[in-house]
Amino acid sequence: MSELGPLVGEPLALDLVNTRARSPDQDFDFLSDLVGMRHWLSCERDRLSTLSDSQLRSPTRADLAAVRALRDHAAAAIARARTGRSPAPRDLRALNEAMCAAPVRHELVRGDRRAGLRARRDGESGTRIAAALAESVAELLADDRIETVRDCEADFCILLFLPTHPRRRWCNPAICGNRMRVARFHERRKAGAG
Ligand SMILES: [Zn+2]
Repeated sequence: MSELGPLVGEPLALDLVNTRARSPDQDFDFLSDLVGMRHWLSCERDRLSTLSDSQLRSPTRADLAAVRALRDHAAAAIARARTGRSPAPRDLRALNEAMCAAPVRHELVRGDRRAGLRARRDGESGTRIAAALAESVAELLADDRIETVRDCEADFCILLFLPTHPRRRWCNPAICGNRMRVARFHERRKAGAG
């Protein structure tokens, strides 16, 4: 998986880590520049409801740097958590600082008939984006299911997923599953011919 763009639809924390991907002949980073970040944020818009549309549409270089730094801490902490270990102190500190820099506050707003309750974050836009992502990482780290996170079985692929059924083997069966089947077919033919 990767040629088609970032894998989205896993828990947000895994989607973040999965913005680094690999095909047999290429490495991808879907957060390498602002175009990539805008695209990824638009894919995740529904899950970043504490951020305004304008923040999601126009991230700055500083926002990108904040999210990339957070991704490194997330990847390290998730890797440890998958084997039943607590986060390293530096990752724990970075995640807590990111959440603390723009915590959610609730605001009562006027509506047509009754008031509505809206979750908001204050602070610079990069700080808010990093806070929302850090929170999703923290939720996953504290969730028992973290130890069931799997690596895609394609030998070149580095993507992670949370299996919703026990037999799931690929990040994307249509891409990685298919590519591995084709590779095995060619291997068998070669072995048969030799
Ligand atoms: Zn894969």
